Amino acid sequence: MAALSSQRAQNDARMRLLLLAPPGAGKGTQARRLSRYYGIEHISTGDLLRREVAQATLIGREAKLFLDRGDLVPDHVIRDMVVEAVTEADAHGGFLLDGYPRNLAQADEAARIARDNGITINAAVYLEVGRDELLRRLLGRGGDAGAAGARSDDDIETIRHRLEVFDSQTWPLVDYFAQRGVLIAVDGEQPVAQVTEDIIEQVALHRDDRRVDAGQMVRLVEAVDDPTLPAREHPGD
Ligand code: ADP
Repeated sequence: MAALSSQRAQNDARMRLLLLAPPGAGKGTQARRLSRYYGIEHISTGDLLRREVAQATLIGREAKLFLDRGDLVPDHVIRDMVVEAVTEADAHGGFLLDGYPRNLAQADEAARIARDNGITINAAVYLEVGRDELLRRLLGRGGDAGAAGARSDDDIETIRHRLEVFDSQTWPLVDYFAQRGVLIAVDGEQPVAQVTEDIIEQVALHRDDRRVDAGQMVRLVEAVDDPTLPAREHPGD
């Protein structure tokens, strides 16, 4: 009993965040910054899948067609990958899960995975960006064919399809998490550093932590920009 409750207390100190956003909202950028800030692992299901595709694994071969079309890969393909990554990261201080869950079935599955592993999510962060701005960013990113960061799903038709998939399958999760009292919505059209600050502040308020000291937070957010910190190449913004 004692061991269990002290284990729980230790678990509660960890930061576990979900990041929810349409394509082009800056999910990857914010995920990298937040994972540095909190010292937690950034788990991107898009990155995990692209790695599997690049290595032509069984999962990668099954996922490739879906990825290239801008469709969600089947839930069972994602599930095992996520369970492994999340439980490993959770043992090392927490995680920021970027790109999962992405439909209601995955959200229910995520709740089961969390329950089975004694994990409580601190917040689901939703980055709000208007459709015109999303298109502008996505078309800018894909326009330079062959450039570093260009992705096989960044042509105009696939971009439109990914936005439709977001609207029909992922958007309902905003309401799902709001109803469960864990949603944090942030204006994703602001400058990158301001978006990060807003998220950190809201997460702290949401956790009912001490109010964040504004000056201290700005210094910490600036530290996230420190070029001496290792920065991974990451095409999945
Ligand atoms: P974006 O949000 O810009 O579409 P991601 O890197 O998050 O980029 O996802 C890229 C692709 O990876 C998706 O279009 C989808 O095919 C696949 N994918 C990522 N996460 C999931 C998931 N949870 N379920 C199903 N497919 C996923």
